[in-house]
Amino acid sequence: MWTKKLPGEAVLAWRRRFVASLAVVFGLNACAMVETTESGAVGIDRRQSMSPLVSEEQINRGADEAYVQVLAEAKAKNALNRDAAQTARVRTVAQRLIPQTATFRADAPRWEWEVNVLTTPELNAWCMPGGKIAVYSGLLERLQLTDAELAAVMGHEIAHALREHGRERASRAVGQGVALGVFGAITGIGDAGLDLAQLALEMTLALPNSRTQEVEADRIGVELAARAGYDPHAAVTLWEKMGPPAQGTPPKWLSTHPPREDRLRDLREYADKMMPLYQARR
Ligand SMILES: [Zn+2]
Repeated sequence: MWTKKLPGEAVLAWRRRFVASLAVVFGLNACAMVETTESGAVGIDRRQSMSPLVSEEQINRGADEAYVQVLAEAKAKNALNRDAAQTARVRTVAQRLIPQTATFRADAPRWEWEVNVLTTPELNAWCMPGGKIAVYSGLLERLQLTDAELAAVMGHEIAHALREHGRERASRAVGQGVALGVFGAITGIGDAGLDLAQLALEMTLALPNSRTQEVEADRIGVELAARAGYDPHAAVTLWEKMGPPAQGTPPKWLSTHPPREDRLRDLREYADKMMPLYQARR
């Protein structure tokens, strides 16, 4: 994710309810070490710690619900897919990327993918667990993205979903002794509201990715784009277009995103490595 701004009142309300629903759960956290993806040509093979209290099915159900809500809110504000040509373009790029996810996860091409454009000036895009994508018009218009740069953005966001980075972050929260009200309901302790939609929104829009997760998403994104026939170096130009951080208070995402120069260097290195995949598609 490029920024962590939340897109509107519904989401803010969710956030407040999320914070209010924080609860402590003891003795329920035997995390399993799992591999969410194959390693791909980029060689991502970090094993991830996942709490049994946060299942993929539950997260995906929550994401489906949250996505419906976000779209409904956008539609009510006439901010959903307002430019038909722009929406078609974004969906065309996504349709080239999605089959490439099979390299990392055999199940992913069969996910119920959805791709929509939200009208907002923010430079942002995200992919919720299970493949629910949003691209903000500000990113497309203010940065004048090429198709390859758009593929880089979406490839990065899709990679977070493939690696289940949101579930990993939620698992870590449980591991630190902080659990969400929803877990009580899942495990039958108490009757806290089972608000999986809220959890999915938090994971997508608020809980920051770790630097490790960002590096993984960068590298997998570069491979997805190359395999889809987009020049993987567009990830570098995209990041250059984002420009240096603004003066003043650093945005929240800066605290967790890799330093800019490190990121550019890593993207260049992996784009170079992925060139044979790209050239094979040309
Ligand atoms: Zn990211």
